[in-house]
Amino acid sequence: MRADSTALGALQQELPELDWTTDPVRLAQLSQDYSWFSPVLKRQLQDKCADLAVRPRDENEIRRVVAACARQRVPITVRGAGTGNYGQIVPLHGGVLLDMGGCNAFSWARGGVGRAQAGIRLAEFDRQAQPLGWELRWLPSTFRAATLGGLFGGGFGGAGSITYGPVAAAGSVLGARVMSVETEPQIVELRGPDAMLLHHKWGTHGIVLELEVALAPALPWLEMIATFDSFDAGLDFCRVLHADSPGIVKKQLAFMAAPIPDYFTSLAEHLPQGCHAALMLVLEASEDAVRELIAAHGGVVTYRKTMAEAKASKRTLVEYCWNHTTLQALKVDKNLTYIQSRFDPARALEQVRALEGALAPEVMMHVEFIRLTNGAYTCSGLQIVRYTNEARLEQIMQIYRDHGAIINNPHVYILEDGGKLRDMDRATLSAAQRLATDSALAMKQRFDPQGLLNPGKLRSWAG
Ligand SMILES: Cc1cc2nc3c(=O)[nH]c(=O)nc-3n(C[C@H](O)[C@H](O)[C@H](O)COP(=O)(O)OP(=O)(O)OC[C@H]3O[C@@H](n4cnc5c(N)ncnc54)[C@H](O)[C@@H]3O)c2cc1C
Repeated sequence: MRADSTALGALQQELPELDWTTDPVRLAQLSQDYSWFSPVLKRQLQDKCADLAVRPRDENEIRRVVAACARQRVPITVRGAGTGNYGQIVPLHGGVLLDMGGCNAFSWARGGVGRAQAGIRLAEFDRQAQPLGWELRWLPSTFRAATLGGLFGGGFGGAGSITYGPVAAAGSVLGARVMSVETEPQIVELRGPDAMLLHHKWGTHGIVLELEVALAPALPWLEMIATFDSFDAGLDFCRVLHADSPGIVKKQLAFMAAPIPDYFTSLAEHLPQGCHAALMLVLEASEDAVRELIAAHGGVVTYRKTMAEAKASKRTLVEYCWNHTTLQALKVDKNLTYIQSRFDPARALEQVRALEGALAPEVMMHVEFIRLTNGAYTCSGLQIVRYTNEARLEQIMQIYRDHGAIINNPHVYILEDGGKLRDMDRATLSAAQRLATDSALAMKQRFDPQGLLNPGKLRSWAG
């Protein structure tokens, strides 16, 4: 599928007052995300580019572009801020890049629930919600740029997932206002589980205009780093803080094994060479209890900032966690990449230790402490890899699988290959998995009957 130049010209002629981008350099920039973290995706996607980009100023402009694209059969790739890691906004077949950033109004926050247009930046959502006593339950480390629609369409979670689990946890996303791609676009409010059928579908299942999400109370968070001489002691501290300390309120906890902290050059004065580090956000009132726990594990507190101090410094530890850990390391050494893993709640630390033993120093251990959709306590990894070649990268991921860890492969750009939609032999699926897959595909049929949304990313949908 590729739009011809007559169809593309017709779009602009029909809607001359819209904010179009046609400059090839700018189009090339807008067409890429952070898939360059993966040498595999970089090779596969670097030449892909939209033919046009458009930034609607309101819902009516979105509707007019979408209707025109449906008439001309032009592919549409929805773009939030383009901070995804898997080429989710990279148009494989050209067409129009639909930049949602202009539709960014905050609507309201009350009673633990908030609503906004999908193009709102997450930092802006919190800036508006916090004075009302509420904040987002999950903050990816890209929160300054990333949009609410992009987090829903392509993200997992972030700071906050230690308490609330991922975006996918039932009860987190309460509603979505969605537009279909048709010559007469329909706008529908989906609630609860129906809305969730569009989560992490990489903009292939409908255009999300607004989201209603459950919120967390806005609390005064204290940022702290504890360093450890011993890998095991640092990891044990994290496990106890995460799962055995219900009285300590936390928003973020990550463990970075040596030599990862050495890559954080802007925090060098707080990170002795060769240390292992735990980076955390805890309730200010929990500080004494946390310090006691750190000391009991032989750790040392090397960094402490209140929320006001962190804001004033324009730096938060969240921007050293999640995939910002990889970004910080890549600033120092370009020959790195990463893998994504999840550990079995029943033996997570056992697996982490075994894999550290099997693969360090080639693979550097970075784990984030979270809860799963079923509430189980575990950790998930964004391990940094010294890259040699694709075959070895595949081998490393296989070693992880052989140890019982789950790999969410970040070196693929097909939705099903990343593990979020199942397309294996139906006979191997459970009844629940079959239902989830069928419901998601029915949603795709309902909101994108011509298959114009982000074509090439979804293998299961034949159209
Ligand atoms: C350094 C770094 C750190 C990161 N840390 C985290 C992290 O902590 N947690 C995490 O979950 N992710 C993380 N990510 C991935 C990414 O930043 C987040 O998922 C972010 O929320 C994506 O938002 P975005 O606005 O940039 O989305 P985009 O990249 O623009 O879009 C993501 C997907 O959603 C779709 N989409 C966007 N808006 C809409 C819409 N309105 N309707 C339908 N579909 C839509 C797009 O088509 C695309 O497929 C990180 C990435 C980087 C590079």
